[in-house]
Amino acid sequence: MTLAHFLEGLRCASCGTPNALWLDLTRALVECRECGQTALNVTDEGRSL
Ligand SMILES: [Zn+2]
Repeated sequence: MTLAHFLEGLRCASCGTPNALWLDLTRALVECRECGQTALNVTDEGRSL
């Protein structure tokens, strides 16, 4: 079973590297393999806009 999932077509908001983001399903966050930046997954619950 694969718990990490690469997100094609997305660009890191921190370092700007395309196709470097992967989804960590065990922690429900997105991490950049280039700069290590992590971001919580966007969910309907978490949206405040
Ligand atoms: Zn990055």
